[in-house]
Amino acid sequence: MNALAETSTLSDLARAIQNDAIEIIDLTTPLSSATPSLRLPAPFVNLIDFSLEEVSAYNEPGPYWRHNNIHTGEHVGTHIDAPIHWISGRDNHDVSEIPLKKLIGSASVIDLSEEAAHNPDFLLEIAHVQAWEALHGKLAENSWLLFRTGWDQYSSDEAKFLNTDESGSHTPGVSVECAQWLADETKISGFGVETVGIDAGGAGGMDPAFPMHYFLLGKNKYGLTSLQNLAALPPVGSMIIVSPLPIVGGTGSPTRVLALVNRS
Ligand code: MN
Repeated sequence: MNALAETSTLSDLARAIQNDAIEIIDLTTPLSSATPSLRLPAPFVNLIDFSLEEVSAYNEPGPYWRHNNIHTGEHVGTHIDAPIHWISGRDNHDVSEIPLKKLIGSASVIDLSEEAAHNPDFLLEIAHVQAWEALHGKLAENSWLLFRTGWDQYSSDEAKFLNTDESGSHTPGVSVECAQWLADETKISGFGVETVGIDAGGAGGMDPAFPMHYFLLGKNKYGLTSLQNLAALPPVGSMIIVSPLPIVGGTGSPTRVLALVNRS
């Protein structure tokens, strides 16, 4: 491809975005001290929530400017799980090392929000993904599989979002068999969910515990959590842009996730 043709492709893209032939959908949950985050049961230690600490606001500490310190865990709000987050991926990439080509890719959206509405412990099985593939084609290499469960409707209410009772958290996720299959038998770059983590609320009791983390990150693939607005994406044909901070040694990062959707 010559330089002129490359320029033309990008100019066409920029024009299509400006004239709304391509719509940008924000899949990111706004990040504040109210953003729901994972609550591990004792004896495990939780990360801190996100917060802003004012340093100056056009006043004595900074008369012409306003700026804040941010305090946050890595795995807060919409965020990416890098492979080193999990023991099975400990020799793989940290969040700063994720190849850029993996962070932009086509999005495949599997919508099982009906099922999750009836059963908060609903698990994605291999058969669900294969039924989706029969309709829409095989999951493409370097694509992101996004699992719509309707859970984003609870993202401003931590109690509903985490849905915890005396038996633990009840949120949808992925079965052990499907987690291993997605990691081993598909060429996806990563897997995105609307829930607080890439595993089901009850995944601590599975074998292995937290199978999506175990298998996916062990295969140098990535997780994305707390996504919103997946309902606005078609099953195939959109593209996502995943932008974590390049935290050196980081196991994850709050991440802006944008989707480009063809509206022409
Ligand atoms: Mn995480």
